[in-house]
Amino acid sequence: MSQVFDVAIIGGGIQGAGTAQAAAAAGYSVILFEQTGIGTGTSSRSSKLIHGGLRYLESGQFGLVRKALLERAVLLRLAPELVRLAPFYIPVFTTTRRRPWQIRLGLSLYALLGNLTPAARFRKLPKADWAHLDGLVADGLQAVFMYQDAQTDDQALTRAVTASAVALGAELRCPAQVTDISAGESGFTLGYNQQGKPATCQAGVVVNAAGPWVNQLLGRVTPPVRGLDVDLVQGSHLVLDKPAPAGIYYVEAPRDRRAVFIMPWLGKTLIGTTETAYDGDPAAVRVLAQEEAYLLEVYRHYFPTDNVTVVDRFAGLRVLPRAGHSFFHRPRDTIIHQENAVPGLVTLYGGKLTGYRATAQEVLAVIRPLLPKKQPLADTADLPLTPVTGPLG
Ligand SMILES: Cc1cc2nc3c(=O)[nH]c(=O)nc-3n(C[C@H](O)[C@H](O)[C@H](O)COP(=O)(O)OP(=O)(O)OC[C@H]3O[C@@H](n4cnc5c(N)ncnc54)[C@H](O)[C@@H]3O)c2cc1C
Repeated sequence: MSQVFDVAIIGGGIQGAGTAQAAAAAGYSVILFEQTGIGTGTSSRSSKLIHGGLRYLESGQFGLVRKALLERAVLLRLAPELVRLAPFYIPVFTTTRRRPWQIRLGLSLYALLGNLTPAARFRKLPKADWAHLDGLVADGLQAVFMYQDAQTDDQALTRAVTASAVALGAELRCPAQVTDISAGESGFTLGYNQQGKPATCQAGVVVNAAGPWVNQLLGRVTPPVRGLDVDLVQGSHLVLDKPAPAGIYYVEAPRDRRAVFIMPWLGKTLIGTTETAYDGDPAAVRVLAQEEAYLLEVYRHYFPTDNVTVVDRFAGLRVLPRAGHSFFHRPRDTIIHQENAVPGLVTLYGGKLTGYRATAQEVLAVIRPLLPKKQPLADTADLPLTPVTGPLG
């Protein structure tokens, strides 16, 4: 006989892990499926920032920035080994599009949205300090602003959240691929494949957190559902054979003025990211030669004296709602989509690593009325997260 759960979640990225943790903490019986490995999808290929997203102020996404800054504060408290503040440097050159007053205005708003806490403070670096900026080019340099945001290990964070869900009683099937979802009178039947063996389970509610596979998974639902139209947008990073810089440089790509980060990562230098439309198999996404050339051009523009080689590279896929405007201006908040024809099937589109816990609370608010009353076990805002080595459950 197949097992019965209140909530089945498909996708062991940060969104699926966060939803599993929140649902288990709320007292529901939970099963979480991941086809490859926990956090091996987009949630290991991000820029690894736990941030409000300074640049989203330009597209007017104040609500997203405020929510993310509040979540940053929660994660700094819950996961001090996994989420740490880092200095961010914004150099302004005579050729930079955003002028010093604009940066100052943006950082002031950012500090305000972050409740003016000590972590929200920013300052303009005195000229004497420019010499300590890892060899940053000084020609045309007008000002350097320093503020703080946080950095994490995205996959380690996803594993820690999954471990917390498992500790609260969630069952993990990994690697296990969900192959079909059928909606019936009293809930859902899910078919899945674990180590070549087919199996089924029942669930009252299904949360589709399959990241870039989200619409592929909807194609396996009976009765058929349409989902939302989205674009997959590839973002690539390079790891350079250069000792980790003192902080995170937030620079403007000379070619198209996009924001690019140059960051410390595992003792080396990480640079990213790009925005390239993608429409292949999500598992096959790779860094393109033109993206590598673009990122190296940015690096050499700002650190021209360095001779660098690329020692690693990775690409991930953003899931952005389809819209007329540029990728840059598309909303970055998670869309929680429900199918009218199939009540109890909830699909998550897009979102940020940073906001996963808040998103999970929003998902809970959607599914709670569809589930039996349960006694909560914990509040995710109080559950510490620690790095986990070894198997998860
Ligand atoms: C280039 C880039 C940089 C980013 N930088 C940042 C950043 O610095 N800070 C930030 O906050 N956010 C950032 N983001 C956003 C953030 O990384 C993503 O929003 C987040 O990782 C998405 O998590 P997810 O769980 O939705 O998807 P994923 O991590 O992709 O997880 C989905 C999982 O579902 C599994 N799956 C799919 N189909 C099935 C199935 N049928 N059965 C079982 N399992 C299945 C997949 O194997 C996968 O592991 C970035 C995104 C990109 C692309």
